[in-house]
Amino acid sequence: MRLDKFLSITGTASRKDSARAVRAGAVTVNGIGASKADMNVDPDADKITFYGIPVVYRKNTYIMMNKPTGVVSATEDGREKTVIDLLPEDLRRLDLFPCGRLDKNTEGLMLLTDNGSLAHHLLSPKRHVSKKYRFTSKFPLTDETRAQLEEGVDIGGYVTKPCKVEILDDGGYITLTEGKYHQIKLMLDAVGNKVTSLERLTFGPLSLDEKLGRGEWRLLTSDEIRSIEILAPEDSGKK
Ligand code: URA
Repeated sequence: MRLDKFLSITGTASRKDSARAVRAGAVTVNGIGASKADMNVDPDADKITFYGIPVVYRKNTYIMMNKPTGVVSATEDGREKTVIDLLPEDLRRLDLFPCGRLDKNTEGLMLLTDNGSLAHHLLSPKRHVSKKYRFTSKFPLTDETRAQLEEGVDIGGYVTKPCKVEILDDGGYITLTEGKYHQIKLMLDAVGNKVTSLERLTFGPLSLDEKLGRGEWRLLTSDEIRSIEILAPEDSGKK
C-alpha cells in the first residue's frame, strides 16, 4: 500500500498533508525517514511514525460521523448525497457502510464501519443496544404522554418496547433499545404530537463528540473501539 494512502485511511493525514510531512522529514518507516509519499509500505509489518507518533493500523475501520440533515444513511443512492460521500476518497474506497439508519432529516451520531459482523451484533434486536436522541416537538410533552411513550405505543400494529423519556421545554430526550423505521416520529404521532427535529446523541457506549461539527467525522479512539467490540463475539472482525 502507498504510504500516503496508509496515512489517509488511518485518519492520520490527507494525502496532501502526508506528502508535506514526508518532505519535512516527519514520517519514518521502520525507524528510517520516509523517502517518498508514494513509497510502498506493508501496513501489517512496517512500523510507521508521523511526527514521532506511532500510527496504529487496524484490520477494521470505525468512523464516528456527525450526520447533517439532507444526506441519506446509505452507501449509494442514485439521487441523494450519502454519508459515505462526505468522506475523503481513500476512505470512500473502503467497504464502509452506516451501522443502522437515520432519516434524511435526522442528524447526529452515525457509526460507519467495514466490520459487518460487529454491525450485525450492534443492530441485533436481541442485544438491546440503547440509543439516546434529543427531539423537539410541535407541542410540549405532558407527564401523561411521557408515561404513554415510556410504556409503549402502537405504531401501525407494533407496540414499542418500554423506553426512557425526559421532558424539556421544547421536546425532550428519548432513549430506545430498538430501532424501528421512523420510530420516534411515529411514537410522537401516536400521542397526538409531532417531531420537529431529531438528533442522535448516543449509540450504545458511543457518545457524539461535541467537537465534531455537522458533516464532520473522525476515527474512533482505541477505547471507543474496545467499548463496542466488547458487545460482540471475539471473531467479529473481518479481513
Ligand atoms: N426515529 C426516527 O423517527 N427517525 C430516526 O432517524 C431515528 C429514530
